[in-house]
Amino acid sequence: MKHFESKAIRTQTERTQYKEHSTPTFLTSSFTFDNAEHMRAMFAGEAEGNIYSRYSNPSTSELVEKVCQMEGAEAGFTTASGMSGVFTSIISFLKQGDHVIASRAVFGSTHQILTNILPRWGISFTYVDPTDVASWETAVQSNTKMLVMETPSNPGLAMIDMEQAGKFAKAHNLIFNVDNCFATPYLQQPIKYGADIVVHSATKWMDGQGRVLGGLIVGRADLMQEVQTFIRHSGPAMSPFNAWIISKSLETLAVRMDRHCANASQLAQYFDEHSDVLKVLYPHHSSHPQYDLGKKQMSQGGGIVTFEVDGGVARGSKFIDAINMISISSNLGDARSIITHPASTTHSKLSEAERLAVGITPGLVRLSVGLEHVDDIMSDLDQALAKSSAAVKVAV
Ligand SMILES: *Cc1c(COP(=O)(O)O)cnc(C)c1O
Repeated sequence: MKHFESKAIRTQTERTQYKEHSTPTFLTSSFTFDNAEHMRAMFAGEAEGNIYSRYSNPSTSELVEKVCQMEGAEAGFTTASGMSGVFTSIISFLKQGDHVIASRAVFGSTHQILTNILPRWGISFTYVDPTDVASWETAVQSNTKMLVMETPSNPGLAMIDMEQAGKFAKAHNLIFNVDNCFATPYLQQPIKYGADIVVHSATKWMDGQGRVLGGLIVGRADLMQEVQTFIRHSGPAMSPFNAWIISKSLETLAVRMDRHCANASQLAQYFDEHSDVLKVLYPHHSSHPQYDLGKKQMSQGGGIVTFEVDGGVARGSKFIDAINMISISSNLGDARSIITHPASTTHSKLSEAERLAVGITPGLVRLSVGLEHVDDIMSDLDQALAKSSAAVKVAV
């Protein structure tokens, strides 16, 4: 099988004696052995199979194999959530005294790991500008071990030039770790550009229907040995039920992403032309400052559009209040369109200066574009822009 869609649909674990067509879920915490010798061989790693679902399970193994095929990775693991995946992908490789270089524009909880958790264990970090790989040279120390990157970033859609970053990582012998959640392996495959590890929050586009939490870590086989040790003994295992849900969802990832991206492009154009929108960011829209890079490393622009409404924090909140159909929720990557106003919600604890440093302006709104008809999404946004404009004028 050469093509992405076929791998996403046809990668499967062995069938049982019933020859079922659709993969069953293996809801079992443990597995049995034929006899003492079989059990000994399994524990010694001399025989193939499953021992205990904290180590492996046919449902999680199918999902891992599928995502390895999609990302071009050698091996991988599932985790209970995206964050347990991000944490595991970092901590499996570091020890006291090590140093990490990270993009300033990382997911909020990744920021918390770097700033609050790792320092307690004597692991330090330096933030760098994700859009300027040349500036990273000065951040390198003799104890630097890893590059922690996210592209496009949440919510500011900053992109890392992965080709340059891959060369940088190689030159300094760093593990290049990429959070590929926003793009999905359908739109970009970081390993092609030199990434050693790719992590995902499968909670987002991979499930795509807002049902379950999940995470994935895939990459070089030698690195995945370290990940295996950490996962087996610290236990952030994914439920086999969630793995089954996500594996089924991946069968439709390509067709879903095509529509998410088509709807999002159309909305980016709509915002670009709307007089109450100061700025729109979308990786495949010409107003994005890294448009050329987006075109180069992403096959389509993805399902997230961010835009800045005229009128600051007050207008941002009023606009959200005026929405009818679109869900007000902090999640993303769902068949249902979802809207959030980071300055008054997810990033409200940051200072204005900290928000601006990661591109979160006061009126910035993040839209996760769903699979509803694009005209219905657009008319909801349109009436909310009109209504919030009037409300802000009355308040003034
Ligand atoms: C949501 C998200 C995560 C965390 O994933 P969970 O499944 O919520 O734990 C990590 N990285 C990015 C880019 C995300 O959007």
